[in-house]
Amino acid sequence: MFYKINTYGCQMNVHESEKIAGILENLGYKATNEDSLADIILFNTCCIRENAEDKLFGNVGALKQLKKEKKDLIIAVVGCMTQQEGKASILRQKYPYVDIVLGTSNLEMLEDAINSIRRKKHIVSIVDPTMDADKTLPIYRTSYPNAWVNIMYGCNNFCTYCIVPYVRGRERSRKEVDILDDCKKLLDEGYREITLLGQNVDSYGSDLKGFNFSSLLYKVANLGGEYRVRFMTSHPKDFNDDTIAVISENENICKNIHLPVQSGSTAVLKAMNRKYTRESYLNIIDKIRKQMPECGITSDIMVGFPTETNEDYLDTLTLTEQVRFSNAFTFVYSPRVGTPAAKMVQIPDEIKKERVTKLVDLQNRISKEISLEYIGKTKEILVEDINPKYEGMVCGRTDSGRLVTFNGSSDLIGTFQNVKITHSQSSALFGEME
Ligand code: SF4
Repeated sequence: MFYKINTYGCQMNVHESEKIAGILENLGYKATNEDSLADIILFNTCCIRENAEDKLFGNVGALKQLKKEKKDLIIAVVGCMTQQEGKASILRQKYPYVDIVLGTSNLEMLEDAINSIRRKKHIVSIVDPTMDADKTLPIYRTSYPNAWVNIMYGCNNFCTYCIVPYVRGRERSRKEVDILDDCKKLLDEGYREITLLGQNVDSYGSDLKGFNFSSLLYKVANLGGEYRVRFMTSHPKDFNDDTIAVISENENICKNIHLPVQSGSTAVLKAMNRKYTRESYLNIIDKIRKQMPECGITSDIMVGFPTETNEDYLDTLTLTEQVRFSNAFTFVYSPRVGTPAAKMVQIPDEIKKERVTKLVDLQNRISKEISLEYIGKTKEILVEDINPKYEGMVCGRTDSGRLVTFNGSSDLIGTFQNVKITHSQSSALFGEME
């Protein structure tokens, strides 16, 4: 029996797909990349961006014929999108051959749902955001030497453009003792990098008494042994001096911070309900740079938010130029039904396109310039994988988060190697093992 999982969206979803794979492997299924071989095809969905949703509907639609030919094929749609208002019923009406619809917090019901379908019971649909995502789910990890560890679920922030708090519910922090226990086990199993995951990791513990993110981060970094720690995603309103101090004082916490700015204009940030200003964001960047000059800072930057004037947009460009992000996910605002910003007066598409094109050009130039600064330097790389594009080459990351490709074979995966950077191609770096 085979399964195929199609994953859309962020790192949280990639990790949730590892949990789905864990459940399926326990049921005796094995992974395949071929639809025609699969006995169960799952879509782990995202609703943050419109294009992920369109792609999902297109891909589910394309399975209609296969389902006709292969009656026992199970098709399941799980994750964020199913919890967005009305989406589960659209799926049921337009794609009646979908057997299972499960919300993001309801993955523990997957095994029962599959068993029901096997007993010829039709559509199983459980979309309940109040259920807690179960930490005891088996996990079939696919990202050695890195392991993802959820530290919290949900979000309380209600940025006016974002659907996440509505579909993933309010913040629920996992118990510190359970997180540390998971991390210890992973290190004992040989994982060399732990990435702590949450929608807003900096507010970890705000729903528990006496716990916070900086102290958790310190404890995760001091479990003993040779390994790295990363975390994502941070929120500038909660990112504090204690966290900066813990990162700078602990060598194995990667000097790589993803700090989504979204806009360089205080007025737009206010309309987005981000609860920080351009100045306070730049102040955090100053503090990071003072304590960790080589820290790789990455960001998410949005253009075309409903209230964004040309002046606001220029503020975003100047902030991008000033901060010099090593990389940034740049994108155009698209309205998500059910969010306050979707009801605001929208900016015409041509203006959004024009704005994002200039922003992408600017960020590409900065990323290239930063790449050039690496040439001639030797960096410690954790080897992650072979690079399938280049024969006899492997790839891994600097602690600042830059991907480096260099000569080597698969037996190096999971080891730390010193690599001299010899050249670059835009944001990709190439080097030679020393
Ligand atoms: S912090 Fe804002 S953008 Fe991030 S998940 Fe929460 S509501 Fe969405």
